[in-house]
Amino acid sequence: MALNLETRIVARQAGAPPAFTADIAVLGAGISGVSAALEAARLGRKVVLIDGAPQLGGQAVGAVIGTFCGLYSNGPNPHQVTHGIADEILRELGAEGVLHPIRGRRNTIIVQYSETALARWVERTIAATPGIDLLLGAQLIEVERDGRRLTGLKLATRFGPAEVKAASFVDASGDAALAWQAGLACREPATPIFGTQMFVLEGADPAALAKLDRKELQQRLEAKGNAHGIRRHDGFLFAAPDKDTVLVNMTHVATPLDPVGHARAQLDGRDQADRLLAFLRSEYPAALGKARIRTFGQLGIRQTRWIKGRHHLTADEVRQGVRFSDAIGRCSWPIELHDRPDGVHWEEFGDDHMHWIPLGSMLPPEADNLIAAGRCIDGDPAGLASVRVMGPCIAMGAAAAHALDLAGAGSLHQIDIAALQRRLHDNLERRD
Ligand SMILES: Cc1cc2nc3c(=O)[nH]c(=O)nc-3n(C[C@H](O)[C@H](O)[C@H](O)COP(=O)(O)OP(=O)(O)OC[C@H]3O[C@@H](n4cnc5c(N)ncnc54)[C@H](O)[C@@H]3O)c2cc1C
Repeated sequence: MALNLETRIVARQAGAPPAFTADIAVLGAGISGVSAALEAARLGRKVVLIDGAPQLGGQAVGAVIGTFCGLYSNGPNPHQVTHGIADEILRELGAEGVLHPIRGRRNTIIVQYSETALARWVERTIAATPGIDLLLGAQLIEVERDGRRLTGLKLATRFGPAEVKAASFVDASGDAALAWQAGLACREPATPIFGTQMFVLEGADPAALAKLDRKELQQRLEAKGNAHGIRRHDGFLFAAPDKDTVLVNMTHVATPLDPVGHARAQLDGRDQADRLLAFLRSEYPAALGKARIRTFGQLGIRQTRWIKGRHHLTADEVRQGVRFSDAIGRCSWPIELHDRPDGVHWEEFGDDHMHWIPLGSMLPPEADNLIAAGRCIDGDPAGLASVRVMGPCIAMGAAAAHALDLAGAGSLHQIDIAALQRRLHDNLERRD
C-alpha cells in the first residue's frame, strides 16, 4: 500500500476567534460548575461550560479529593441534605460498586469514591445532556462588561483564542476568577489558608493498616514530623476497601495566586509528599513499609480568593445555624479551617445542627447577571471553611442555575425568593 506523503502548507489567517453564544456561561467545571451546568441545561437553557483544565470535574477529579463530605446530617441517623446531581452520583456510582460510605465526625456519613469513576460519570452525563457546549483547556483572560451586566469572556486555549457571549454567568472557578477579571470587589484571607498535595499509595498491607491507630499516628507526627521536614502534623489516611491502596490527605502547602508562586508550590507539595512517605514507611513498616506513591493529584486548593457578596457568611452564623430568609442550601459539616501549617482548626456540631447558605453570599452587589457557586462564595474564612465541601457545592450549583433561570434578562437581585426556594425544596426541607 502506498504511503500517504502529501502535505499542505498552512498559515494562520487573520480573523475572529471561534465564538460561542449561550444563555448561561459557567466558568469552572468542578463539582459546583458541573451541578450548575447540568441543572441549567435541564431547565432548557443553552449553556457553555468552560474550564482551564483539559478535563472535567475540577478538584473532585483532578486533585483526587476522594470523599464526598457535607452530603449528610450528623448523629446516629444521618439524612441526606443535598439532592439533585448528588442523587444521581450516589445511585449510579453506587450501582457500579465504586462508592464506600463510612461514618465520619459526629457520625455523619462521608462517601469515598473512585475519582476515575466520578470523572467518567461527569463526562458521560455532560455528553448525554443536550444544550451544553464545552470549552476545556480554556483560561479566562478578560471579561467584557457593560455597567452592571457582564457580556462576554475572552479565553486563551492551546489552539488559539476563543470568545463567549452570554446573557448570564456563573463563577464556579473556586478563586473568583470571573469576578476578579470583571473588576469586581473580591476578598482574600488576611493570612494564608493551606492547600494539600493529595496522593494515593499502593503496596499497603490492608490488615496491618486496619490496626493502625490514627491518634497515635498524629502523636508521632507531632513528635517527629519536624525532624523529617514535614510541616503538617495531622490528617487522614483513607484505606480503599479490600485493596492495598490508601488515599493520603496529610500535607499543607501554601497556594498563592501568582503563577510563579503557584508553580513553585506544586514542587513543594511533591516534596512534602516524599517526606511523608519516608516517615510512614519507617514508622509503620508492617502497614506501609512497602508502600509507594501511585498517583499524585493536582495541588489541592482550598480558600484563596472569593467574591465580596451581598452577604458575608460568618462563622457565628454557621455556629448558630442561622436560617436565612434567602437560604438555598444547608449542611452540618464542621468548620474545617486549614489556617496553620501544622494542623487544622475543627469545630464540630451536634446531632440536630444544620447551617444554611444564603443566596446573598453568592451574589456580588455590583452585577445583575453574575452568581458565584462553590468555594468562592462570600464568607469569613471560618464560615467558608464549612460550606466549601462538595455536598454544599452541589447545592450551590443547583441554586445558581435556578436563580439565573428565574432572573432571565432581569436582575438576580430581584428574583422571587419564594419561587427559588420552592424549586430547591429537596435541598432545604427533605429529610429521608
Ligand atoms: C486537598 C483538599 C481536600 C479536600 N477534601 C475534601 C473531602 O474529602 N470532601 C469534600 O467534600 N470536600 C473536600 N475538599 C473541598 C472540596 O474538594 C472543594 O472545595 C470543592 O471540590 C470545590 O469545588 P468547586 O467546584 O467550587 O471548585 P474546583 O473543584 O476548584 O473547580 C474550579 C474549576 O475552575 C477552573 N478555573 C479556575 N480558574 C480558572 C480560570 N481563570 N480560567 C478557566 N478555568 C478556571 C479550575 O480549573 C477548576 O477546574 C477538599 C479540598 C482540598 C483542596
